[in-house]
Amino acid sequence: VTDPKVRDSLRNLLNDQNLDNPKDPVPAFAQSRKNIGCIMVFMKHLQEFTRKRTDITDIGAYHKNWIFEELCHLVEQKGDSSIQPDSYWALWKLYKSRNLLQLGNEIIARLDTDRNHYEVYSMMIEVYPNDWVKRCWRYFMEETPEHYEHKYHQQQKSKVPDIVIYARLVTDTLRALNVLYVAKKVQREKLLDENKELLDKLVETGKLRLEKYRSLIEKDVGFSAFSLISSLDESIFKTSESFFKTVLDLWKSLYL
Ligand SMILES: [Zn+2]
Repeated sequence: VTDPKVRDSLRNLLNDQNLDNPKDPVPAFAQSRKNIGCIMVFMKHLQEFTRKRTDITDIGAYHKNWIFEELCHLVEQKGDSSIQPDSYWALWKLYKSRNLLQLGNEIIARLDTDRNHYEVYSMMIEVYPNDWVKRCWRYFMEETPEHYEHKYHQQQKSKVPDIVIYARLVTDTLRALNVLYVAKKVQREKLLDENKELLDKLVETGKLRLEKYRSLIEKDVGFSAFSLISSLDESIFKTSESFFKTVLDLWKSLYL
């Protein structure tokens, strides 16, 4: 995925010389410019990811579901993945004015991907609820809450400003909330019994994760901050406009 040929073909295909390829090894990604969409799949990375998933027995279904996710991304991008609402750029300017553009960009990119996945996952659970559960049930298990807390405290020993550390924490909290909202929308009656159990596991580990975020937020960001975040309505995730507008307001009220 980091091969310069990937970047060049992406730029030529979508006719945009500013486009960049992902820096991390991803199995697949989707990009679009001016109503032309492109999905790139990297078999080597896909196989590496598959090898880590010892719980997956039907590899064909797993791969198909991954490609379906990329198709959903193209739908979610509505023809051009570079177009963003004003509130997105307002957030960008906020970090620029503080000379924190690089760290800010990382946070904004994270918020954007998480928001997009709310829309993509909502499409996926409609059509392939069983495949989605099988693939995503370990969402919160890549890292234990204790490990998260350890990493969080490590940041405080580094040169990263507190407002960035807290903004990352709030971003992670929003991500957990949005995945839990999606999980709640899965139509249980369509699930095989074994997948019902996996869905319960996803919700259970997600709630544990939220509790960890709650304790860190209440301690560092402010006592009422967590209830403010968790009281946000699910509908904020529906579009980038509503999402970034809410994020901007939230960042202002929490002094992030
Ligand atoms: Zn995705």
